[in-house]
Amino acid sequence: MHKGMLVVVSGPSGAGKGTICQEIRKRNPNLFYSISATTREKRVGEIDGVHYYFIDRQQFEKMIANDEFLEWADVYGNYYGTPKKPVFEALARGQDVILEIDIKGARQVKKTYPEGVFVFILPPSISILEERLRKRGTEREEIIVKRMQMAWEEIANCDWYDYLILNDDLETAVNDLEAVLTAEKLKPKRV
Ligand code: 5GP
Repeated sequence: MHKGMLVVVSGPSGAGKGTICQEIRKRNPNLFYSISATTREKRVGEIDGVHYYFIDRQQFEKMIANDEFLEWADVYGNYYGTPKKPVFEALARGQDVILEIDIKGARQVKKTYPEGVFVFILPPSISILEERLRKRGTEREEIIVKRMQMAWEEIANCDWYDYLILNDDLETAVNDLEAVLTAEKLKPKRV
């Protein structure tokens, strides 16, 4: 049996990668969505084990020491990581896997799993990105400033990705991501 395909979706916070991933999962219920572990505080409406595994720093550092992460990163002062085991089990079953992670994490995966498919989500503009971050209303001002600085840096360094998808219009962006998945599946090494 063929191994599944590992798709890494990355991009600045507020670019809409979460919404795009949600939509692509609706269209492809067979996609395995990796649930990350994080030390950040739970937001209103988030459920442990659904949106993230919310754990403390000590637990997270223990998981790092035990080599339980495919990748992990410190994003705006909190740890985020992809538990390795469920991802590799899904790939071995032949299931495609989607990871929604930050750019540092994506780079780590590129090193350890270069056969992955790396997709970068671009916001329509920097000012729209800022507007989206503010509209969320979940972050404090200093965090928004930090995230905007990070976004500039990330966009300036996105040329190593396999695909860039502009999230101007959600439907179009999801169609684009679906087209990427279809095209990748037609590559001789995967057929
Ligand atoms: P948020 O706190 O808004 O849910 O996520 C903040 C950032 O962390 C987003 O860019 C998100 O994609 C990223 N992130 C979520 N899970 C992971 C993960 O497992 N690893 C890495 N490296 N980044 C993650």
